[in-house]
Amino acid sequence: MEEKKCPQCRTYMEYLGVKEFRTGGKTGGWHLSLGDFAELQERIMKLEMWVCTQCRQVLFYLPDKSSLKSRK
Ligand SMILES: [Zn+2]
Repeated sequence: MEEKKCPQCRTYMEYLGVKEFRTGGKTGGWHLSLGDFAELQERIMKLEMWVCTQCRQVLFYLPDKSSLKSRK
């Protein structure tokens, strides 16, 4: 797994593991922040979670590219 640097302060980010998030349904917050992308995903979405130990910015990445294949 490659190291990731914070886009703000260039600090190496700490990997927190793959987290599962519910999209759609009644969890409006995630639905709004992810936009139409969320609508194309299944209800449980797995994302790699990274946090910057300097400024505490959090970034999410898809664990693998197969998660994108649902877009047609
Ligand atoms: Zn940072």
